[in-house]
Amino acid sequence: MAASPLSIPPLMPYSVSPIGFVRSCFKEKFAIPRQPQLAPAARGVLELLAPFDNGEAVHGLEQVSHVWLLFLFHQALEDKPRLKVRPPRLGGNQLVGVFSTRATHRPNGIGQSVVKLDKLEPGKLWLSGIDLLDGTPVLDIKPYVPYADSVAGAYNRIADSAPELITVEWQAQALNQAHSHGLRLAEPLVELIEQCLAQDPRPAYQQPLPERHYGARFWDVDVRWHYPEPAKICVLEVVVA
Ligand code: SAM
Repeated sequence: MAASPLSIPPLMPYSVSPIGFVRSCFKEKFAIPRQPQLAPAARGVLELLAPFDNGEAVHGLEQVSHVWLLFLFHQALEDKPRLKVRPPRLGGNQLVGVFSTRATHRPNGIGQSVVKLDKLEPGKLWLSGIDLLDGTPVLDIKPYVPYADSVAGAYNRIADSAPELITVEWQAQALNQAHSHGLRLAEPLVELIEQCLAQDPRPAYQQPLPERHYGARFWDVDVRWHYPEPAKICVLEVVVA
């Protein structure tokens, strides 16, 4: 039987709208883990917009431990699509095709993360293990389906294992500050800082000289650190922003 000719519609934009926004522990892109699940103490709340905020749309989700979020990289949207990108994973100096990476700069700026669903209320999902910036617009939520979403024998030779961790140490005063801000926020702040910094957020091409200080904001605190040695971070202070 002869195949009927494919009719390709003219390229035209489709419109999508956020179903909600994430309130996240991450207030800036720097020091956010490169994938979900790498920092279990990274928490946030997905606040749903009408008409999805009345409980009906999430009915049944209490039976699910993890969800996929499809979202917009709203702080990385670009007009001109890139065909090749330099993934930080490869040291930031190797170009590979955009579709072989999870880079933020991509056509349509769509990201996807599987995150833990800790608590559910009508209109609100409490999440952990997130890799999402505060204010991220979410386009859809789908339940994680273990038998279909976990593929035995799958490989990815560009990113075959989680990034190697580096040692995180604390100055005594910084650890006290993190403990007391963690109590105030009712958040596992010490764990969050340790888990995120252990991923070594520094750009791979940058030599971490001990005199150079780095910083990032988690919740409402500014965290500052330096590298006393190339593979060791020391947290210097944790202060309200
Ligand atoms: N898991 C997602 C995926 O694979 O599509 C995201 C991977 S992407 C490599 C993770 C990085 O995206 C984070 O380290 C953070 O710097 C950045 N990011 C997170 N939320 C963002 C947002 N709303 N806009 C721009 N960049 C964002």
